[in-house]
Amino acid sequence: MIYSDYNATAPLRPEVFAAMKPFLTERWGNPSSSYSFGSQLKSEIEAARRSVAKLVNANASEVVFTGSATEADNTALNAALIAQPEKRHLITSAVEHSAVLNHCHFLESQGVRVTRLSVDRDGLLELGRLEAALTDDTALVSLMWANNETGVIFPVAEVAALCRARGVPFHCDAVQAAGKLPIDLKAVPIDYLSLSAHKLGGPKGVGALVVRKGAPFAPSLHGGHQEKGRRGGTENVAGIVGFGCAAELAAKELPGYAAHIQPLRDRLETELLQSVAGAERNGHATLRLPNTSSLTFPGIESEALLLLLDQAGVCASAGSACLADSDEPSHVVRAMKPESAAARQMARFSLGRETPSDDIDQAIEAVEKTVRALRR
Ligand code: PLP
Repeated sequence: MIYSDYNATAPLRPEVFAAMKPFLTERWGNPSSSYSFGSQLKSEIEAARRSVAKLVNANASEVVFTGSATEADNTALNAALIAQPEKRHLITSAVEHSAVLNHCHFLESQGVRVTRLSVDRDGLLELGRLEAALTDDTALVSLMWANNETGVIFPVAEVAALCRARGVPFHCDAVQAAGKLPIDLKAVPIDYLSLSAHKLGGPKGVGALVVRKGAPFAPSLHGGHQEKGRRGGTENVAGIVGFGCAAELAAKELPGYAAHIQPLRDRLETELLQSVAGAERNGHATLRLPNTSSLTFPGIESEALLLLLDQAGVCASAGSACLADSDEPSHVVRAMKPESAAARQMARFSLGRETPSDDIDQAIEAVEKTVRALRR
């Protein structure tokens, strides 16, 4: 199998599995219990909290573990609206993940007004549009750090500064940026930051919302006193420990990440752009994650391409894995190139630290062959 869908999920790292295993076997207590067999687990959760905080240079006390980044995204939007009941306006972009966009859609049905900022042909955001959309009624700006489909990076520091100057809280979905780009919450005033363990080689079903001290907050899950009352529910101890381990490894490896992965991505992209007639890149050439390539192959429907690539053993996608079961075109590419069929005729390749160099050659060959067959 040639796996080129790391933005969908990454394999569980062996170190992470080893760190998690005791908490799936011998150490299965409940951290909220009063006896030590359970309560000892609290210190393991706190160690993981410190590791996750360190990856984004936050304070450990600001990290709230969740069941996914989807939950973290939902919680951030809810928190800003619940804690500021007088404000009923949200600003986001047209290219966010469905965890934000579909929750916005739901919130609209509850009377919240939502502005979706457009992007240009390269997937970039114009700050002027954000500035013009901010009102006294705006409860939150929610913009992602890096796009899951194209890898395009938003000007997060500028957005944060603008929101801060206008007194509007800022939520950033950093799921795809974490471990791939430096994130420093001491330098960039983001109020809420969403993270997901499984994109970093951690387990699925665990995420975090980093809530800056003093940011308006209200829990979305009401229950026990876990996470200092910020998220009820018995902690996923093994998952949290795994997240901590994955975050620690990601922080350690971040300095070499781009230098390792970008040449592989560039080789894949350059060769396909040259060899497949009419192929074009979706997303800015440089303001982009070093592992992601979204390409349109004119005349080739994404669905057919991905099916044949799957038969050839190549895993790629047409956008977010969360929406892969729908036959909707990519909302991200459609927002960038609304006039063309690019959104229906694209594939996303996203590489990871485990991607072998040989896979790139095989993926290139498989795509070339498949496109040739489909065009015939
Ligand atoms: N946000 C972005 C940008 C993503 O890419 C994803 C996963 O695809 C999510 C949120 C949702 O993460 P999770 O799978 O942890 O719910």
